Amino acid sequence: MNDRIQYDLIVVGAGAAGMMAAIAAARKGQKVLLLEKLSKPGRKLKATGGGRCNLSNTSSRESFVKKFGRQGKFMIPALSNFDSQNLCSFLCGLGVETHAPDGFRIFPVTHDATTVYEAFYKEIQRLEIVLLTGQKVSQLLHDHKTIRGVVSSGAVYEAKSVIIATGGRGYPSLGAEGDGYVLAQQAGHSIVPVFPAMLPLYTRETWVANCRADTIGKAEIRVALSGYEKLKADGDLIFTRNGVAGPVILDFSREIVPLLSRFGEVPVKLNLSGGLNEETIQRKLVKSREKQPMAAIIDNLCEIFNRPLAQELCRLAGIEPELRFRQIPGHLREKLMKILTSTPLTITGHDGFDAAMVTRGGISLKEVKPESLESRLMKGLHFCGEVLDLDGPCGGFNLQWAFSSGYLAGNSALA
Ligand SMILES: Cc1cc2nc3c(=O)[nH]c(=O)nc-3n(C[C@H](O)[C@H](O)[C@H](O)COP(=O)(O)OP(=O)(O)OC[C@H]3O[C@@H](n4cnc5c(N)ncnc54)[C@H](O)[C@@H]3O)c2cc1C
Repeated sequence: MNDRIQYDLIVVGAGAAGMMAAIAAARKGQKVLLLEKLSKPGRKLKATGGGRCNLSNTSSRESFVKKFGRQGKFMIPALSNFDSQNLCSFLCGLGVETHAPDGFRIFPVTHDATTVYEAFYKEIQRLEIVLLTGQKVSQLLHDHKTIRGVVSSGAVYEAKSVIIATGGRGYPSLGAEGDGYVLAQQAGHSIVPVFPAMLPLYTRETWVANCRADTIGKAEIRVALSGYEKLKADGDLIFTRNGVAGPVILDFSREIVPLLSRFGEVPVKLNLSGGLNEETIQRKLVKSREKQPMAAIIDNLCEIFNRPLAQELCRLAGIEPELRFRQIPGHLREKLMKILTSTPLTITGHDGFDAAMVTRGGISLKEVKPESLESRLMKGLHFCGEVLDLDGPCGGFNLQWAFSSGYLAGNSALA
């Protein structure tokens, strides 16, 4: 343990939140050291949005906050300081133009995450922030409830403030492996149990593999566990080789995964008709039969569902798809109608943190001041980004939080 160097601020982790925090502090004239475990900063940022970087969205502040659930209110000071418009202006100042081609999700106009990464990197260099890579911070140095510095890969670095921006546990190959939780615990912080979120799910039913071809628009999914029926979501769904994926599943997985760890498996019900209710489906099927009285039930169903799915729905109801409606016994017709609006599936698992784009849980918000993101337990210690117990859905919510919280932490440290 040698190399004792005094900085104003040490930022641990050079992801979206950490790079923003370092820049915000350096712009105020602070001497900043940015420590990154990997050989290069911003690995996850470069992978975001499938390499296109969905960096924010156009939601109002209220609906943005709501998407993070009950905890969302914690974000208000950070978002008030630095919202999506501030982020776009900030990036514009770094030479990165942004736009929202669908009116909601904001991307760099290049649709290339590297553009955003490079702008941050150049700004880090311009501000003469000391960026050291290959540095795994393993210990906080502190005395009498005041932070003093960190130990990183055997070296001691001293500073009056430390910001932990180490991310969650998702996609560990991109750097975040939960180190921030261990560091926070050294300062006495509690960790809300973490779960993988935003990831595809496996199902027990194997028929899903036959329906992989098409995206199902406006699919509705709800939990069919007693006491949890209120949990539901809608959006585009894709069947996979062994389960379900697509935006609605990625978002809903943050509700399902904790239930999986509690109950082992989670029964769900799906409406795959594009948001139609039983009455409308009935009407459409009657119309279809009137148009083609000799058509098989599968052909009637194809007015609403794609063919492979229609076939599987018939099978689930125990109906031969080539039969005409009139040839189907009454009790099976009733069963089919139920299945059309309430298709049962059983969620049985997932690929864990390796496939999780986001982490649910993290450093408890109760012990962090929302107006400065400083620890309530240790003076000079701050947190930002995904390491905190906050997770949002798809659509630029998580990156905006990383940038907003990074900006606030960087401005509050040493303020
Ligand atoms: C594949 C993928 C695609 C995504 N796409 C989007 C998207 O389009 N839009 C969106 O809003 N969100 C997206 N997300 C989520 C979003 O990327 C994260 O929420 C966000 O990057 C979190 O930022 P962060 O800075 O808190 O953490 P991270 O980006 O994970 O950065 C943490 C950094 O800390 C470093 N680190 C960790 N431990 C240590 C240590 N002990 N010492 C030193 N350094 C350490 C890591 O190496 C890493 O560089 C995506 C996530 C993934 C995995």
